[in-house]
Amino acid sequence: MVCLNLPPEERYKPENVYLVGIIPGPSKPSKEQINHFLKYLVDDLDLFWDPGVLIPTPKIPTGRRIRCVVIPLVCDMVGAHEVAGFVSHASSLCCGYCMITNAKLDNLDEHFDRRTSSDHRQAANKWRTAKSEDDRTKIEQSCGVRWSELLRLKYWDPTRFMVIDSMHLLLLGMLETHCRDVWGMSSALPDANGDPNPLVKTFEPPVVEALLREFKFTPDNHLFDFDLPELRHMCYASSLRWGGRHRAPLVNSLKTWVRMHSEFLSTINKLTTPSWIGRTPQFPGTASSGSLKADEWRSFCSIFLVFSLIRTWSRKAGRFPALLQNFMHLVSATETASLRCVNPHTISVYEWHVMSYLVGHKELFLDKRFVPNQHTALHLGEMLRMFGPVHAWRTYPFERYNGMMQSINTNYKIGPSP
Ligand SMILES: [Zn+2]
Repeated sequence: MVCLNLPPEERYKPENVYLVGIIPGPSKPSKEQINHFLKYLVDDLDLFWDPGVLIPTPKIPTGRRIRCVVIPLVCDMVGAHEVAGFVSHASSLCCGYCMITNAKLDNLDEHFDRRTSSDHRQAANKWRTAKSEDDRTKIEQSCGVRWSELLRLKYWDPTRFMVIDSMHLLLLGMLETHCRDVWGMSSALPDANGDPNPLVKTFEPPVVEALLREFKFTPDNHLFDFDLPELRHMCYASSLRWGGRHRAPLVNSLKTWVRMHSEFLSTINKLTTPSWIGRTPQFPGTASSGSLKADEWRSFCSIFLVFSLIRTWSRKAGRFPALLQNFMHLVSATETASLRCVNPHTISVYEWHVMSYLVGHKELFLDKRFVPNQHTALHLGEMLRMFGPVHAWRTYPFERYNGMMQSINTNYKIGPSP
């Protein structure tokens, strides 16, 4: 937890961050189990609100009344739903802000009722006092709600104070989803390939890298000099389909890959970016590049792809200009939402871009359904209006602390160290 009364530059210093607790593994708590941990925090927060805590000061030796409230709960979608007392985002009632159902996520025209705090509390109380698990399940299915200890705080409104972190929502939930799932830039080939034959593990990764380097400088017709396992490995490492028993389709895929990447690389090589922008992997989406971090997705999509796609797709015929425009709406939405200063105008610009992106997405990718993150992006404007620029509340600092804590050596034994 951080104290929002502190200036932003002080807020996230280790000495000012309150580590509430660490939940022991091996697995994370599921559904309402988180309440057992939240209870202790809510006990303190409840006391801090009513009656508050008297702290003696030189001017008031009898004690000045200090109150403390917790307002935004900032998490990724999974964590937010669990802590705030909503059912999973994969359930039918998947949104914590409105009553849209999973089956209607694609519906951009219909109005869905906003959730209200009073309805939520009523349903959550029913859930808590339900006599059986079946009754609780019925409430979860009809209202999408279960009890959360945070509801003991009388002022806490789960339908407004639950905030989906912008890094998870926009960078991972929107940009990454668009590249990987909508465009298909995925290195998870074994799942998508459809070839029942397992990949023949003939080469170690460095050998594959060497082969890749070699074939990039090989004239197209020399690709036929490679045998089938070699071509398969090159395709596999390039996130291309690697199945089949014939070399020709693999060679064709590789030729296309080389052409696309040489266009892309020629753009990347011409770009000079400020030193504070992290490097982007040369071959994003390939197995050799590994998985990109949120910030890498942002610079890859909002800088490198913008330059390279405008150069290549805007000149092409067919659906490419529409694909480019659709992608640019997404990039513009992400950038507008990430501004350091926001005002009603920038927020409405964000909302226009995100709606235009979703409308275009629906028209262009007929086989794709919206995921809850894409719907939740429609509610982000409301969060910006309530809490201001995302820099004040996004989870980058907390992710860094997670990393620091994960790097601490432990003896894997719960309890005091001997
Ligand atoms: Zn909603």
